[in-house]
Amino acid sequence: MPDALPPTDLADRLRRGERRALAQAITLVESTRADHRALADDLLASLLPDTGNAVRLGITGVPGVGKSTFIEAFGLHLIAQGLKVAVLAIDPTSQRTGGSILGDKTRMELLSRDPRAFIRPSPAGGTLGGVARRTREAMLLVEAAGFDVVIVETVGVGQSETAVADMVDLFLLLLPPAGGDELQGIKKGIVELADMIVVNKADGELATAARHAEAEYRHALSLLRPINPLWRVPVLSCSALTGRGIDAVWDQISDYRHLLGADGSGDIVRRRAEQARAWMWSEIEESLIDAFKAEPAVRGELPGLERATATAAITPGAAAKRLLALFRRG
Ligand code: GDP
Repeated sequence: MPDALPPTDLADRLRRGERRALAQAITLVESTRADHRALADDLLASLLPDTGNAVRLGITGVPGVGKSTFIEAFGLHLIAQGLKVAVLAIDPTSQRTGGSILGDKTRMELLSRDPRAFIRPSPAGGTLGGVARRTREAMLLVEAAGFDVVIVETVGVGQSETAVADMVDLFLLLLPPAGGDELQGIKKGIVELADMIVVNKADGELATAARHAEAEYRHALSLLRPINPLWRVPVLSCSALTGRGIDAVWDQISDYRHLLGADGSGDIVRRRAEQARAWMWSEIEESLIDAFKAEPAVRGELPGLERATATAAITPGAAAKRLLALFRRG
């Protein structure tokens, strides 16, 4: 990344769909340097009118359920319809251990070689909030570059599903072809976030198990109160390996888009408005905490007070009050 990249030139190239410009722009929004941040803010502001036109799709599922195989088959299906597809990822594991569940193997090989697709791995480092913010911004950038569908992928562990569900129009949960006891193991919270459930691996010896799982999930869902009265969460099955059922998944997503209308009225517009408001508040929270930690008086006292709360020498409430007082004075 050149140090002083003129954002107007970058914005023009990005609007024309230049891949290098898009990759550079995403690197810019991922940077933590203050001067890069200022350029990124200018760039996003100038591109804002060109954003919002894509179908925003979140996909989650435990490791091994077939997310990358599914996204490859699904992405190729969309490309065959003349659509351009971007895939972004949020991988919470890479933040803590440096290891990654999503990124270590070669993934989506055919899709990654297609000029109508753009695949970007998870930004590394920082808090989940920070990674989510950079992914939201990357989503705006790929929209401005003319992509029709943005897929945000995450692993079904930790808190990242909520972050993804909070930035997309439709959140799809991919499940394995198993029911019974294994069904109990699926985190209820994730099921409640899902706008659509797809049982993968409905092929060969697993076809029967997949059919049973589909019926069980449908029954389990009928017991939950629907989040949206207009939309009954559909349960489908597919084989990402053979491609069977992939077209039906896209048809359902199109139905959802029509029913909840993204074109000026309806629930998707409301959902996006609510997401934008929540995003603003999380930006405020992150910025306040950064400023708090950067304040010299706070920095001086923080380690000692943290130790003191750990040994119960002071209550957490009193320690927080003292630090906040130092912050306000600073
Ligand atoms: P991820 O970890 O969720 O991204 O899962 P992968 O896409 O890497 O798939 C994990 C394993 O499941 C791989 O060996 C895939 O070949 C296999 N797999 C994925 N989709 C299907 C499917 O539809 N049917 C069958 N039989 N295997 C699948």
